[in-house]
Amino acid sequence: MNKTAIITGAAKGIGRAIAREFAMSGYNVCINYNTSEKEAKELCEELKKKGCNIIIFKADVTNRKEVDKMIDYVLGTYGKVDVLINNAGISEYKLFIDITQEEIQRMLNVNIVGVFNTTQAVLQKSMISRKDGTIINISSIWGMVGASLEVAYSTSKAAIIGMSKALAKELAPSNITVNVVAPGAISTDMLGALSKEDLKVLTEEIPLGKIGAVEDVAATVKFLASYEARYITGQVISPNGGLVI
Ligand code: NAD
Repeated sequence: MNKTAIITGAAKGIGRAIAREFAMSGYNVCINYNTSEKEAKELCEELKKKGCNIIIFKADVTNRKEVDKMIDYVLGTYGKVDVLINNAGISEYKLFIDITQEEIQRMLNVNIVGVFNTTQAVLQKSMISRKDGTIINISSIWGMVGASLEVAYSTSKAAIIGMSKALAKELAPSNITVNVVAPGAISTDMLGALSKEDLKVLTEEIPLGKIGAVEDVAATVKFLASYEARYITGQVISPNGGLVI
């Protein structure tokens, strides 16, 4: 396979599983990270030992200059970008009345502006001229149905769905698909803010009876990037164990 995928925030959690899945399937992979250098390097070494084509690049997705440098580096290394997976994100559990201006700005910056930055850069620098590409944005079930104590997060994840649907229409004539993966509760650091009791209650609410694994999300993302998914665009697919139906 001569396909290249960039995964943002891929040093840990869901992004790490996506990077592993794509690399082991033969994609050239760029692992983007911002602060988790140690984890990014470890993953890179692990996958290189398995014969995968991997590069890592430090870029804060909220910084357009850093994002541009990353895309240029990927193009210099692999020649094109076929798949962009916007996975980097942050969350915050707080009452809406307590959330500060700074926290709101940070949330919208990482979870929305970050996606705008990477998406615009790959479109301008590779996908539009090649008339080919796949963009997969990681939202959340809370962007579909809203979560108490996560108003800013839910807002940002709902915005990603709106953005993806509009962009899917705009980019279809250029043969570029845009889809959303909206996971349910997945076992990563992001669930760390929940107490044991909260996790128990949440698990009981999930019809399939368990918290999802990062691999469950990676499998959905891989399908959306595959040839078999070529006629799917502007859709939201939610690996959530039946929590939201
Ligand atoms: P995580 O915290 O383990 O991973 C998020 C990654 O994004 C981290 O490595 C972090 O360093 C990186 N990141 C944050 N800000 C960044 C920036 N400015 N630039 C580059 N990278 C940055 O969390 P996760 O659970 O793996 O989350 C991955 C995605 O999945 C997020 O978009 C999250 O909103 C979404 N999601 C997670 C769950 C869940 O239950 N874990 C559910 C639904 C959606």
